[in-house]
Amino acid sequence: MNFRDQFHLPVDASGHPLAYLCGNSLGLQPKRVATLVSEELEDWQRLAVEGHFQARRPWMPYHEFVREPLARLVGAQPDEVVAMNALTVNLHLMMVSFYRPSGTRTKIVIERGAFPSDRHAVVSQLRFHGIDPADGLVELEPREGEATLREEDIEAMFARLGETIALVLLPGVQYYTGQFVDIKRLTAAAHAQGARVGVDLAHAAGNVPLRLHDWGPDFAVWCHYKYCNAGPGAVGGCFVHARHAESFDLPRFAGWWGHDQSTRFRMGPEFVPQRGADGWQVSNPPILSLAPLLASLEIFDAAGGVEGLRPHSEKLTGMLERLLERRAGDVVEILTPREPARRGCQLSLRIRGGNGKRVHDALGKRGIVCDWREPDVIRVAPTPLYNTSEEIERFVAALIEAVL
Ligand SMILES: *Cc1c(COP(=O)(O)O)cnc(C)c1O
Repeated sequence: MNFRDQFHLPVDASGHPLAYLCGNSLGLQPKRVATLVSEELEDWQRLAVEGHFQARRPWMPYHEFVREPLARLVGAQPDEVVAMNALTVNLHLMMVSFYRPSGTRTKIVIERGAFPSDRHAVVSQLRFHGIDPADGLVELEPREGEATLREEDIEAMFARLGETIALVLLPGVQYYTGQFVDIKRLTAAAHAQGARVGVDLAHAAGNVPLRLHDWGPDFAVWCHYKYCNAGPGAVGGCFVHARHAESFDLPRFAGWWGHDQSTRFRMGPEFVPQRGADGWQVSNPPILSLAPLLASLEIFDAAGGVEGLRPHSEKLTGMLERLLERRAGDVVEILTPREPARRGCQLSLRIRGGNGKRVHDALGKRGIVCDWREPDVIRVAPTPLYNTSEEIERFVAALIEAVL
């Protein structure tokens, strides 16, 4: 199965193919995106307002077209997922409902070095509730001298904090280290303390197999422009566990699109939420942003989902790891866990001697696209949908030249 020919592959200024190993940051464009977006533009030209009902994919229920493939992508029931807004907006909307500090149960736990947007969102939610982040924010840390978190340490921390935890926000795959945490185990440990659990799947969706419904977090949020290949600023994703499908008493920031679909257009003054994740929608969906997502999810389905891609993904990343160890082991430190089950496709590399930024720039000059994250990491993500073992060899060769 080869899906590489279904994507536009980027080239340099003189038309030579680049080795694009940056799908963790922005996935490549599926060729079918142009068709699906053009069809919406045509239908808008032809039908104008009637497109809501008469477009070949009517705009009114458009988000329904991505529901089932999205549920398959994250291992959810169809009414547990919805495509809407963007990641950080969805995180705020979820915290409005699931971060409900009361009495001494006020704390939010996240990992130290979390993606800044997540930390900003969490800190601003604490402040919104009048809680000093110095008291309310708890940050999980690796052990001295280690780069990644240990589940047993996190469990011990939850047990220590006990009933003071209101919300745990887990990374799925941590953006900096590439660590895939044990969502099931940590969700159970946090729930045992009576805390609510959210997961940020920015680097996990489309990258690692997920079983959100079974693993049981209360909510999850993610974006679709990274491994999901739906384009810059694409509409985000949101999961609300079925146990909350009819929690209509949860506070939420409401808008008309979250209103019960059957009576939405009676335009009544009272808000009646739709059941499931749909009840958290605020605005009507961005059709031109959902069309690329639809094109992209078709490819995941054709590939047998992330599960179908996983063996190839493990093979590519394992190859990258072995080549780096064998040929550049003395200059490259791999921060990402070694066990395939504890990572996705990304490896995070630290160049010994502190020359990482220079090395990254030199890779760029050799036609390698990967990314640099302050303070000292090069992230390389061979994605199973479109990367090849030749590109990995090219990366390693260029890296060795660059560190010389
Ligand atoms: C990419 C990423 C984001 C981006 O947030 P947007 O709201 O989509 O701009 C947030 N959190 C994490 C962990 C990310 O990796």
